[in-house]
Amino acid sequence: MELHGKSILGGKTAASRGSRVFFGVAAATGEKLGPEFHEATAAEADEAMTLAENAFHEYAALGPERRAEFLERAAAEIAGLGGALLERAQAETALPEARLAGERARTVNQLNMFAQMIREGSWVEATIDRGAPERKPVAKPDLRRMLFPLGPVVVFGASNFPLAYSVAGGDTASALAAGCPVVVKGHWGHPGTSEMVARAIVAAAEATKMPAGIFSMAQGASNEIGERLVLHPAAKAAGFTGSLQGGRALYNAAATRPEPIPVFAEMGSTNPVFFLPGALKKNWAALAEAFVQSFTAGVGQFCTNPGIAIGREGEEWRAFIEQTARLAGAVAPGVMLHRGIYEKFRSGTGRFRQTRGVGVAGKWGGEAEGRAAAAVFTTDAKTFAGEGTLSEELFGPSTLAVSCGTAAELEAVARSLHGQLTASIHGTEEDLDRHKKLAGILREKAGRLIFNGFPTGVEVCAAMQHGGPYPATTDTRTTSVGYYAIKRFARPVCFQNFPEGALPAELRNRNSRNIWRVVDNEMTKADI
Ligand code: NAP
Repeated sequence: MELHGKSILGGKTAASRGSRVFFGVAAATGEKLGPEFHEATAAEADEAMTLAENAFHEYAALGPERRAEFLERAAAEIAGLGGALLERAQAETALPEARLAGERARTVNQLNMFAQMIREGSWVEATIDRGAPERKPVAKPDLRRMLFPLGPVVVFGASNFPLAYSVAGGDTASALAAGCPVVVKGHWGHPGTSEMVARAIVAAAEATKMPAGIFSMAQGASNEIGERLVLHPAAKAAGFTGSLQGGRALYNAAATRPEPIPVFAEMGSTNPVFFLPGALKKNWAALAEAFVQSFTAGVGQFCTNPGIAIGREGEEWRAFIEQTARLAGAVAPGVMLHRGIYEKFRSGTGRFRQTRGVGVAGKWGGEAEGRAAAAVFTTDAKTFAGEGTLSEELFGPSTLAVSCGTAAELEAVARSLHGQLTASIHGTEEDLDRHKKLAGILREKAGRLIFNGFPTGVEVCAAMQHGGPYPATTDTRTTSVGYYAIKRFARPVCFQNFPEGALPAELRNRNSRNIWRVVDNEMTKADI
């Protein structure tokens, strides 16, 4: 596929005359990658939103079967891009080919999963309370409620998942499945990958005869374009994965609109891992090995990267830290996704090193120019409590080991943590008994609790929760991965005393869609 470097507006290539130009950059070498990319103009951003608004009703009315066909075709078109897509993504991000192949499979599977979900149909939460006209003193009305799509959704691609959290990632797939048109703001870190995937979606939309405005992708390398999309009156929600600063800025911008809209932002997380004494005693060496693998995988550029390890002072904990540092020291420094992320990692590790009470375990090579070396920092519970910046996300291959004297101190550290995507405990049953409050404290802090495992590797399925209290996300009630992600882009509507013929199929007496419904407080597939 020859790239044109332009935005895509409802299936058409934008002119982008006189707009700002930027290039893709080879993450490994810093070289420019052709072609020139043109930032969408303000008028083009507005056009994308207007096209989405105009397409919304037609798209929502197409029904689940047609939307499922479109999603499946999009999955097939993306798979059909073959090695060229992986090559471009690899050049732009320096992520290994095997990792990108896995990410592509996940992207394709997510689209297919949502297709299957909407075809089955029970996700709309159809709920029926039959009326009782004879009820005294007031008649009970007939009430029927289900979920409907919100309207156009703006999606921000993440730099660290150029496929699975980007143009056709989880946000796009779930919004399109719900019946919402999508306008993507492509990430400037992988503009070629974004164009290829966007064109695959357009091809799928054409092949399945979708209204053209259901999908657009605005290229851009400045804050203005994304903010403009979120501020456009047609936008009804936004999905975001990236930095706390970016997510918060967009959340704030959305709140200042005459009509505020939700911004589902997934941002920073340090994903604490608690190593309790019994577990370390059993197996500190193996735990150190698995831990190093987890925090150095993908040069530490996962939102679930375990950035903090917490343990109780003692022989095994010390041996664990030493072994962790030794193994981390043997990991080759890696190229990060883009220069900005690398510079942030460099300044963050510099800040850690200059903090009184923070040490570096083992021999740390520091950063070879442009490459991030894995680092293990150490501190104690008191320093951790006093230095707020130590509990902030340091995106990259590093971790901070926090030593605690007592169970109470360890629980105090847990209590002091910000909201997290995940929290993990390595322990035995005896450990849990001796740290009775820990799991309860962590349940308040994180969206996913892991026992005797590590947080990297997020299964895409119905029970997954990928979200947590702020600052992990802006809305802890939702997930950006798995089945329930679709609910972010839908809103409930209740029909009171509507005639049967005017109700949506899901709410009529005959359950023609054969979906699970709650009828008079009972889950059933039966007709009424
Ligand atoms: P980012 O800087 O937050 O950018 C993500 C997307 O949001 C980009 O498309 C960016 O485009 C846009 N954006 C950022 N700030 C904006 C603003 N104020 N107004 C409008 N649009 C805005 O994230 P990144 O480039 O992917 O990575 C940078 C840092 O984010 C990393 O160092 C890391 O700390 C963090 N990160 C966290 C996760 C996670 O899952 N927790 C994932 C990736 C990155 P423009 O720059 O063109 O505006």
